[in-house]
Amino acid sequence: MKNPLIEQTVVLIKPDGVKRALVGEIVSRFEKIGLKIVGMKMVWVDEEMVRKHYPTERRQWVTKIGEKTLEAYKNYGTDPKEHLGTMEPYEIGVLICKWLVDYLTSGPVVAMVLEGPHAITAVRKMAGYTYPDTAVPGTIRGDFSIDSPDLANMIKRSGMNLVHASGNTEEAKFEIALWFRKKEIHNYKRADEGIMFGF
Ligand code: ADP
Repeated sequence: MKNPLIEQTVVLIKPDGVKRALVGEIVSRFEKIGLKIVGMKMVWVDEEMVRKHYPTERRQWVTKIGEKTLEAYKNYGTDPKEHLGTMEPYEIGVLICKWLVDYLTSGPVVAMVLEGPHAITAVRKMAGYTYPDTAVPGTIRGDFSIDSPDLANMIKRSGMNLVHASGNTEEAKFEIALWFRKKEIHNYKRADEGIMFGF
């Protein structure tokens, strides 16, 4: 990986994606756009791993999840307090983190490292917005789900949105090291690299 524009990023196909047999469809979208799979495995993780992956101990991160949720509720006309029992962003975040642990430990996930030009942004764009009902058609979350945070929170579960994708360079670096050993990441040439990128 010598070209500085070539990035690596982590994608997780979450348990709903695996159980709905969407692994092939999702992986195929990434392959077709020109991203190279350089690492891939199926793992059933425990709570400790989820809490390493999502910084559930970081107050600022947890609060941000709560704030984003309250913002989303403004569009629904439903009362967040009725579903969540509080209007405090941090407390809402703590609840969501618990549901997130339940969700990600409810079945195996497929973890992969994808490589390509500006891969981090490209994959986030393809994944779509966090809440599937808001994600635009054409994105993975927008095409394969209609789940909404108010529905999820009303029945006290995480929003199910099929995939996770690293948010930025720092997250990608951290997540690659968390999910993969060095020898599980492979360096090879795709047959169409020359046609697509000229190298
Ligand atoms: P993203 O996955 O798009 O980076 P976030 O970091 O904001 O989004 O949230 C992490 C995960 O937490 C989401 O992918 C989703 O599974 C879950 N989540 C976030 N907000 C809610 C919510 N209000 N209700 C239920 N689950 C949520």
